[in-house]
Amino acid sequence: MFDLKTLVRPNILALKPYSSARDEFKGEEGIFLDANENPFGTLNRYPDSYQKELKQKLSEYNNIAVKNMFVGNGSDEIIDLIYRVFCIPGKDKALTFAPTFGMYQVAADINDSELLKLPLNEEFQIDKKTLKPYLDDDNLKLIFICSPNNPTGNCFNETDIQFILNHFNGIVVIDEAYVDFSDRESWNQRFQEYPNLIVTQTFSKAWGLASARIGIAYASDEIIQLLNKVKMPYNISALNEQTAIQALGNRMTFETNRQIILEEKENLIQELRQLDIIKRIYPSDANFLLVEVEDANEMYRELVSQKVITRNRNGLVKNCIRITVGKPIENKQLLSALKEHIK
Ligand code: PMP
Repeated sequence: MFDLKTLVRPNILALKPYSSARDEFKGEEGIFLDANENPFGTLNRYPDSYQKELKQKLSEYNNIAVKNMFVGNGSDEIIDLIYRVFCIPGKDKALTFAPTFGMYQVAADINDSELLKLPLNEEFQIDKKTLKPYLDDDNLKLIFICSPNNPTGNCFNETDIQFILNHFNGIVVIDEAYVDFSDRESWNQRFQEYPNLIVTQTFSKAWGLASARIGIAYASDEIIQLLNKVKMPYNISALNEQTAIQALGNRMTFETNRQIILEEKENLIQELRQLDIIKRIYPSDANFLLVEVEDANEMYRELVSQKVITRNRNGLVKNCIRITVGKPIENKQLLSALKEHIK
């Protein structure tokens, strides 16, 4: 049986969170002499700790209630906060499927928690048989599922994700940083069916705002309240909140750029297939391609020497480089650099 209270670290359950001046007085009118701010300037006031305006716009966009959203300083912050809420340092564990996004490990190390990494199968899918014995471990608090997965690019089978949600009584985090590039439905509406589910998304990828650091978590109100309890009081700057609001109001740009990236990805696949030096292109539901070559270290260095920077993933998947889909002109430059390499 899933019981949220038994999963949360006792010190976090008991925590009395910081109460800011604006937590204590919520009105908008008056002379504000309560927060030791400077009365002069345009950025002189602290931002809204709970980003209500952005959440309201997101709520109109995706029909999810404001109380079921958390905004983080990138989804990286959210990953760290999830460990902080649920994993007792030195005791509790998390699990993920490798190869995957490196921050699950870094956040585990920061929080002195073990991260178990189960290998994905040959198709880069979850192997339920290997997973099963771990699901009953009382110290296993979190399972991170990155879908579409970084660096492999594919989504995991819906039935496997459902199996984990149904059979694991800890927290299941589905990291959907790349979901906007995929034609799969997001899981972000499904926390009502699955009280153990947290879905994370980000403005860093399809929304083109990596520099603004805006990540979102969708979950039950109880889980959202726990994240609010442990976050820093003003974790999102007013400038960044407004930037995300503007992007949400400009759907045309979002859609146009997303379409260009998807079309460019298809072109890139076609072009890369023509090249003998490319051994394999893995299927991708994201804005990048994982590509196997003869010698990834050499290929990476050669591309760098031609001022084309890819990500060498040889350490994660043998002889693979990860190529982010760029602007049309950038992709052309990548292709000519690869052709140059063949000469
Ligand atoms: N999740 C995945 C799978 C990612 O690849 C990344 C960034 N590379 C993140 C989360 C972090 O995103 P953010 O910019 O929102 O912190």
